[in-house]
Amino acid sequence: MKAVQLTAHGSPGKFELRDVPDPAPAAGEVVVQVQSCGLNHLDLWLEAGELPLKVPLPRTPGGEVAGKILQVGPGVTDWKPADPVAVQSNLFCGECEFCRQGDESLCLRGELLGVQRDGGFAEKVLVPERALVRLPDGVDFDTAAALTLAGSTAMHMLTNRTQVSAGEWVLVMGASSGVGSAAIQIAKHLGARVISTGSTEAKRELGRQLGADFMVDSTTPDWPAEVRRLTAKHGADLVIEHIGGDVLKQVFDCLARNGMVVTCGATAGREVTLNLWPFFVKQQRLIGSYGRNRADILMALEWAAEGRLKPVIDTVFPLDRTPDAFAHLRSRNVLGKVLIEPFEPASESD
Ligand SMILES: [Zn+2]
Repeated sequence: MKAVQLTAHGSPGKFELRDVPDPAPAAGEVVVQVQSCGLNHLDLWLEAGELPLKVPLPRTPGGEVAGKILQVGPGVTDWKPADPVAVQSNLFCGECEFCRQGDESLCLRGELLGVQRDGGFAEKVLVPERALVRLPDGVDFDTAAALTLAGSTAMHMLTNRTQVSAGEWVLVMGASSGVGSAAIQIAKHLGARVISTGSTEAKRELGRQLGADFMVDSTTPDWPAEVRRLTAKHGADLVIEHIGGDVLKQVFDCLARNGMVVTCGATAGREVTLNLWPFFVKQQRLIGSYGRNRADILMALEWAAEGRLKPVIDTVFPLDRTPDAFAHLRSRNVLGKVLIEPFEPASESD
């Protein structure tokens, strides 16, 4: 089969499209024929060698996989060839104390698909049976690939790590990102009043189309003042954050009393200083969010089937243009998701 392998870290890194042996499923494993695979900032960190994990090269990246079952290993009875599936990219053991209670995102022996084992920028990918989620009717492969990681991350942040009450002010950072574009839609459906940010007019227009009540220009140095003004000095009750660095510090400038920041990323910097005085005086909370549970993916796909959650797809690249896809995401001039499809669209019809 064909697979894109990262052979040297860098920005850009070195990629090669290679013929590699077909994966063979062991007991409890399945081979998925990849139909669409989303690109995420995690892939850029992997490319640049900036993950706090040891990653042996070559490695095939790609964690946001949707496709069809091609082959099942011994003992797999719930799945059969041609079943349409999405893959939970935070591979979990299924046995530890957290997995047993459905908190796979807290798994003690978790592995990231496309980081610690070969992922979906390939014609086929080998995954454990327990990582599969069946696609609901009406959800196509591109939709699933665009929501399986980014959309379910937003679902985890808004429905698992915290709860949103109707009428609350929710600030979603980065309307055009995979997480941001999904978080706006989810927060609106939960009854929140949503403010989001964008660095260009095109990104702010996308945020409005997705349902944000107000859009703020994040290139304005004192954008938190605009959030305070829009909320009549109340501030945001909940912030969906994934940027980190100085942006996370600024978020606290417009966070309400008793407000909460949920963060799932740090693309702009992992080390942040925080003034603890206003933080405890205002009794605020900072919550970490990592990956997703199976329940979050199921809900994201269910909402997609019901039309409540629509992925924003920027560009679909063929497999042999994977390096261009990485360059495009790195440019930050992206509205929504970048996807890679290993096959010509014609071969998807069946
Ligand atoms: Zn576990």
